[in-house]
Amino acid sequence: MSKKYKDLKEKSKKTFEAHLVTLGDGQVGKTSIIIRYIDNSFSTNYLSTIGIDSKIKKVVLSNGEEIKVKISDTAGQERFKSIASNYMKKANGVLLVYDITSRASFQGIDKWISELSGDSTTLKPMILIGNKADMETKRVISVQEGEDLAKKYGEGIHFYETSCKTGDNVDKAISDLVNQIYNKFSGKTLNENNIEIKKDKNNEKDNQKKKCWEC
Ligand code: GDP
Ligand code: MG
Repeated sequence: MSKKYKDLKEKSKKTFEAHLVTLGDGQVGKTSIIIRYIDNSFSTNYLSTIGIDSKIKKVVLSNGEEIKVKISDTAGQERFKSIASNYMKKANGVLLVYDITSRASFQGIDKWISELSGDSTTLKPMILIGNKADMETKRVISVQEGEDLAKKYGEGIHFYETSCKTGDNVDKAISDLVNQIYNKFSGKTLNENNIEIKKDKNNEKDNQKKKCWEC
């Protein structure tokens, strides 16, 4: 085995991969979120008809560690019960998405969560996203309603309103989820701004509280 190959192998072994999936009703903007996050672009026209399998982005954390963020799309799998169990098993984080201009999509979140927790008592790290925040005049779900829904499922589920059109909050929301996954698997703790914070006895309690919903 050549040294170069060995080095590469060692390197790939060390690269942590956060595998995220998007869940939510059709048309809420799941594909758009992935494209905004990975390519920093947006389109109104063709997106509803296309789906992407998955996309990968390399992210460097503030502690210098490089990780891979892989996001898989759910085109054509939007009906309940049709989420392939392998697909969900591989994921270690979930983006639950609704559209702030659609009450039906907001109500759909409960069903997605019960579907997710169906055969397990614990939930994966997840964030709740109210997308299309730029469409203020057509808003039917208030920010408060979104926050309350996230709280209903425990302190671990953070809530963000995003806009794929303007790019608002897309990066921030996904970084938060990536950090939660990183914290869970590495045992290290990064705060929301990707800054590594030291664990000490004073915040040990907080960490344990945080860990409960993740275990
Ligand atoms: P999906 O079915 O959940 O994957 O939704 P898509 O990503 O295909 O988006 C459905 C439609 O909503 C498309 O026409 C998008 O251009 C549009 N869309 C997605 N996100 C936003 C957003 O943040 N703001 C606005 N105004 N439109 C959006
Ligand atoms: Mg889609």
